[in-house]
Amino acid sequence: MQLPREVIVGTNVLGKIGEVCRGLGFHNKIIVVTGPNVYKIISNSISEPLINENFDIDYVIIEESTKDFVELVEEKIHKVKPEVILGAGGGKDIDVAKQGAANCNTPFISIPTAASHDGIASSHASIKGFKQPFSKKNQAPIAIIADLDLIIKSPYRLIASGCGDVIAKYTAIKDWELAKKIKGEYYGDYAANLALMSAKLVTESANEIRAKKEDAYRTVVEALISCGVAMSIAGSSRPCSGSEHLFAHALDSIINNNALHGEKCAIGTILCSYLQKGSWKMVRRVLRIIGTPVKAEELDLDGDAIVKALLMAPKIRPDRYTILNSEKLNKRKAEEITKITKVVD
Ligand code: ZN
Repeated sequence: MQLPREVIVGTNVLGKIGEVCRGLGFHNKIIVVTGPNVYKIISNSISEPLINENFDIDYVIIEESTKDFVELVEEKIHKVKPEVILGAGGGKDIDVAKQGAANCNTPFISIPTAASHDGIASSHASIKGFKQPFSKKNQAPIAIIADLDLIIKSPYRLIASGCGDVIAKYTAIKDWELAKKIKGEYYGDYAANLALMSAKLVTESANEIRAKKEDAYRTVVEALISCGVAMSIAGSSRPCSGSEHLFAHALDSIINNNALHGEKCAIGTILCSYLQKGSWKMVRRVLRIIGTPVKAEELDLDGDAIVKALLMAPKIRPDRYTILNSEKLNKRKAEEITKITKVVD
């Protein structure tokens, strides 16, 4: 079980980076992996506390979460030989930092500037260019420093997407229970309940999240971190990723558009919750309050793409048994579900 040793969530906490790194036993070289925009906004706030603690800092600026940028991070690690890698930014910056660090057996610290998915705290990273279209297990962050000031200032769409990724745990857990029942798969009560509790807390905070209250943002960030911890406890992404994630990954391989991970998972959760005979109406209502997309057209997708993704989803990862395996769908049934759940008009 790999768990973070330090988790700091609060306002103005970036200034603590130097102390945190020192407290974890580092005292020399650090590489910060970040995107060009985040670099402009926060490089001073990151560099200053580290320089005050006498760290040597190198930056790697990445543009996409692809294999090429992971290799760029690896090259820099081989050259500089840092003690720790800091991944600062949204999902892609953190994923590339995490994967590059894991490939070189170097510890990694997560500094999310947005709360758009649970990769900010998990041991999994989504990188384009590898054979498997779903996230890859590597290493959990040794520390997480989540500055709410930055997260509150990030575009609302990102936090709404993060909520979609948390709400997805309702269907993920039901799929895990099903896999235990039908396939005798290992099921961890503690990990399952931690993921489920995160979904419930975000559900209860829906109105406050929409009102952009600081406490509600903290709830979402803590929920995403708890989901990451749930995966670490389970030793797999099972508590956080079921049929709704397979649907989202299938969409990724069908169409390359700007829809965010949590947004695709949100639509998947509505559809798969209906199939599970779950509370899909509640899921849809909560997502609408928060402002996460509930319709295909909101993601610039048409009905055909949704139906195709539903039919393709169980083939994305055959080892992951879900409701899509037990409810064998055909085109007609899939079309019917998209209409009943109002994902497609
Ligand atoms: Zn996810």
